[in-house]
Amino acid sequence: MNNITIFMSDMHLCADTPDLNALFFRKLDEWAGKIDALYLLGDIFDVWVGDDDDDPVLIEITQKIKAFAAKTPLFIMRGNRDFLIGKKFAANTGAKILDDDPCLINCYGTPFIVSHGDIFCTDDVEYQQFRRKSRSWLWQFLARLKPLAKRRQVATQIRHISQTKKSQAVQYEIADVTEKGLNDAQNRFSGSLKNPADIIHGHTHRPAIHTHSLNNQPYRRFVLPDWYDDKGGCLIVWSDGEIEHATL
Ligand code: MN
Repeated sequence: MNNITIFMSDMHLCADTPDLNALFFRKLDEWAGKIDALYLLGDIFDVWVGDDDDDPVLIEITQKIKAFAAKTPLFIMRGNRDFLIGKKFAANTGAKILDDDPCLINCYGTPFIVSHGDIFCTDDVEYQQFRRKSRSWLWQFLARLKPLAKRRQVATQIRHISQTKKSQAVQYEIADVTEKGLNDAQNRFSGSLKNPADIIHGHTHRPAIHTHSLNNQPYRRFVLPDWYDDKGGCLIVWSDGEIEHATL
């Protein structure tokens, strides 16, 4: 029988997305115990300001994730909206957190580089500086010391800034991946790979299958869709090597 592993990202779940939350819960129920593994590659939550958040919708989502992880291997990578997912969340859910982004995984004997995708957008220099800073131990330690209400307030401000940026055409251009970003990732793993690995990532909200090459060796880049309105999507990797996007 053909087995499958599923990859998703950018669901941006929150209290304002009841339809998407319900869709996510239905899919978890459907897949639990039936698929080989589920990878959630970041921006699962529209915002995650810390594992102590008591928002009832976030708690409900966390509980559904926990129920799923009890039956099926679940791997979670942080995105640019939920990079404060921490050890407590991992312990609460039983999900395996992929701390490194990008990260090299093995799926049915084939290596893949998986990433949220924001690290590949190297033209956005200002964002990459913030990203480096905000992933440091010290920044996160200080952020977690701030009261929950304050962290929510800052998150809302950051969201407004990024939405204003996205509405500017020039900023939109620099918010896509670059060859440099992709090459950096391939080179990071070149010691353990004979050829460049296929890449799976989200973040850019431009689902597609691209072909690239490094040193004349081709590889594919699978971009995951974001979820919006009442529609979701994912990438399915079959144990026989087939890979396809699916609408949920
Ligand atoms: Mn993102």
